[in-house]
Amino acid sequence: MTATTETKIIKEVTAANAKYAASFTKGSLPLPPGRKFTVVTCMDARLDPAKALGLEEGDAHVIRNAGGRAKDALRSVIISQQLLGTEEVLVIHHTDCGMLTFKDEELHEIVKERFGNEEYHEFLSFPDLEKSVKDDVEFLRESKVIKSEIPISGWIYEVETGKIRPVKN
Ligand SMILES: [Zn+2]
Repeated sequence: MTATTETKIIKEVTAANAKYAASFTKGSLPLPPGRKFTVVTCMDARLDPAKALGLEEGDAHVIRNAGGRAKDALRSVIISQQLLGTEEVLVIHHTDCGMLTFKDEELHEIVKERFGNEEYHEFLSFPDLEKSVKDDVEFLRESKVIKSEIPISGWIYEVETGKIRPVKN
């Protein structure tokens, strides 16, 4: 399949985008996020940070990966703060996260079996949701490339209710 093959998904997203662009009025927003903050969160399809947190285009950086792990996001956090002026971080993990359902070793075995690949990836899975949030807030607070005065808070988003609740470190 080439990049230009019109899959069903491509048809759907290009149609949706045409609709979005037809009434688009935010073409002159500045590059740095207007509300000067960064969200580190999971890629889970049930979590829509813009809707759940009231974000408009241009407001904030949303860094997403499997689990919303800070270690994976650090590169982007540095760019966000040092080049684009963000001054606060919210780490948001969520209930029913897929990262709670497997161990790194298991996924490593699957990849090895299916692809014959011995290369080890740190998948950053976690068995305890509250702890993963605390660990990631701690990881960022202790990072030598993040200024100590940057507020970093930890949260759990509930996919069942749409609510976020704080996790105290
Ligand atoms: Zn997740």
